[in-house]
Amino acid sequence: MTADRVNPEPPERAAVAALADDFLTSLRDWITIPSISTDPAHHGDVARSAHWLADALRADGWPEVAVWDHGPALPAVYACWPAEDPAAPTVLVYGHHDVQPVDPPEAWEHPPFAGVVVGEELFGRGSSDDKGQVAMQLLGVRAHLAATGAPAPAVTLKFFVEGEEESGSPHLADLLDRHTADLACDLVVFTDTPLYARDAPTVNTGQRGVLGAEVTFTGGTSDVHSGRVGGGVPNPATALARLVAALHDDDGRVRLPGFYADVVEPTAAERADHAALPFDEADWLAANAGGAQAVAGEKGWSTLERVWVRPTAEVNGISGGYTGPGLKTVVPREASVKLSFRLVPDQEPAAIAESLREFVAAHTPHGVTAAVVLRGEGTPPYAIDVDHPAAVAVRDAVEGAFEQPVRYSRTGGSGPAAVLHATLGVPVVYLGATLPDDRIHAPNERVVLPLLLRGAEAAARLWRSLPERLS
Ligand SMILES: [Zn+2]
Repeated sequence: MTADRVNPEPPERAAVAALADDFLTSLRDWITIPSISTDPAHHGDVARSAHWLADALRADGWPEVAVWDHGPALPAVYACWPAEDPAAPTVLVYGHHDVQPVDPPEAWEHPPFAGVVVGEELFGRGSSDDKGQVAMQLLGVRAHLAATGAPAPAVTLKFFVEGEEESGSPHLADLLDRHTADLACDLVVFTDTPLYARDAPTVNTGQRGVLGAEVTFTGGTSDVHSGRVGGGVPNPATALARLVAALHDDDGRVRLPGFYADVVEPTAAERADHAALPFDEADWLAANAGGAQAVAGEKGWSTLERVWVRPTAEVNGISGGYTGPGLKTVVPREASVKLSFRLVPDQEPAAIAESLREFVAAHTPHGVTAAVVLRGEGTPPYAIDVDHPAAVAVRDAVEGAFEQPVRYSRTGGSGPAAVLHATLGVPVVYLGATLPDDRIHAPNERVVLPLLLRGAEAAARLWRSLPERLS
């Protein structure tokens, strides 16, 4: 608990409050730009969104602002505000300004690009993911300067806001390579993850990695008659089903050779933090799990642990043979399965891919040919040590701003944090103030405005505290 907790109005909170109306007006304006990166018809809007942000940064007084427009990459925004003290640490804030499509538009209660406010909620595509949180970071810097009265931040701040995150950040590595010197820093603050819950604010400490692959088993050159030939040749669909069935043992553990060899288990303190979070299985199933009827997974781990800190193998889809109406009595010529593996530190996608190839080879029967096609190189996992001074500083800043005990959490999904970590060679911490039920990527996306204001206050506190914390 910091001393600020007993201060009725820390200067950062007053500064955020004074700027709140301006912040909301500005964010609503940004939301009106449909910066949908996956749709070429909206690429002009992605560019408009980048320039909107660049203008906003200039208006806030950022001395160095640039739109990085290296086609075919969609425009990213970069800004830098050097600290007065040249020895102060440099922090890079990462976020994205592109958004998901809105389909189906008729499912929206309010127009997705109007920035409608109802009570304390702001509705619109990007309100939570991620324009709301990027705007929160801009507000955090303004509040930091207002609270300290200084003409420059206590740390050298850099913003890097990409325009292709919702399309899988296809040119992120290229952008990082082109601008290695611009982006050099001591720490990345990643701003694209939620709190665990409104009444249980958390600081995220990591994301799982992911590797996607498709395995195809092929028998002959055509489907054949299941009566005249069936029983006399291997059936690729049956062989594939055996392969899929062999992926897990009875305890839900993945049976790829060496799959767990590099897995780093969470510390006892981290497990205790995760276990202390409120978790109602029925609520979670209904709200987060698409109405699944029961929890399931690796034996010996809680549901949150299964999703956050344990690696998985999932079947995303299976196809093969005749699946049309009625019956067609064939032995199919081929069958295939799409798989995804969620990875945790220190698993490496390349090693898991190699292990998958071995596993497939060992489960390919005589007379069947196997092909393994990877979906790209995969995304590595990332987690920061919960005792790292930067992680502790974020936790203290969030605790001060939210005036509640704050625990650590993780995210089951994957994102570019690992790429930033690997390319820039610095630790990554997470600062987010949105909620898991903000309906990101879905109709009626919203953000809870008081939480964004708390998040901005947390950021402002963080910038003030970091020079000492990182020294
Ligand atoms: Zn996002």
